[in-house]
Amino acid sequence: MLQQTQVKTVIPYFKKFTKKYKTLESLSKANETQILKMWEGLGYYRRARNLLASAKLLVREHNNKFPNTLKEIKKLPGVGDYTANALMGFIHNYPTIALDGNVKRIFARYLNKKESKVNYERLIDSNKKNLFITNRNSDFVEALMEFGALICKPKDPKCSQCCLNKSCRYLKSSNKIKTNKRKKIKVMNYNIFCYVSKKKQIALTKDNEIKFLKNFNLPLIKEMKNNSVNKDWKFLKNYKNSISNLSLNINLYYKFSSKIPKSYNWYSLNNNKEFIPSFTKRIFNQVSTLF
Ligand code: SF4
Repeated sequence: MLQQTQVKTVIPYFKKFTKKYKTLESLSKANETQILKMWEGLGYYRRARNLLASAKLLVREHNNKFPNTLKEIKKLPGVGDYTANALMGFIHNYPTIALDGNVKRIFARYLNKKESKVNYERLIDSNKKNLFITNRNSDFVEALMEFGALICKPKDPKCSQCCLNKSCRYLKSSNKIKTNKRKKIKVMNYNIFCYVSKKKQIALTKDNEIKFLKNFNLPLIKEMKNNSVNKDWKFLKNYKNSISNLSLNINLYYKFSSKIPKSYNWYSLNNNKEFIPSFTKRIFNQVSTLF
């Protein structure tokens, strides 16, 4: 839940989630709609799907136990190097480092070397004796993350408070490296077409071609090309929506109709028991202004 999401946003979701699913087994018995409904509003829904798929796999193939090798952990859906190392540290107290952007920056600064010039694997491997000097390896994994977030921050590192400031090359150097810039936001333009009924309903389908919204209930959505739109569709408004590092510029159109294409279903604009992603909820809000 914490991936790309602030702690204060996550807390109520986490509490609700762990209250309902107290064990791996109970989670593994849930279905995707239930999990997505609990995740509603938190975004990045792939995390929820991967979590459920991982729970099912752990119950089915690992007898409810969490694997204790990196190789097995990496077989869980959505788990790559970073997460696998973090889990090995947190769960098994294994001496390891979860290399995310924050941690890479700490090493690069300490050596005053560009991140692209650091061979992190070799560096960690050849410094094991100096790095893993505690039995509290799970705390060490967490501590490095916190250190990157609070002390050796992306901007204005707090060198005067840093326990490494006596040996840090970045601090001593007159030619300090520049740390990696944040990823650029990519702007994309879409037309969204909503079938709307007089009963305050909107037609949604999972059959859309937009990769990052795959398998979600959405109205018809198309990349804006020359923006010539059939005049059956009425323009409602233009608005912006951000997803991850994408900024979506959206022109929203609507058409009152009682007939909808086969793959669509009607959804109430006000009251839905089913999971509706935040992206679609924003469309609901705009369309509601028609009534
Ligand atoms: S001294 Fe400054 S730059 Fe060096 S590791 Fe500490 S906070 Fe980072």
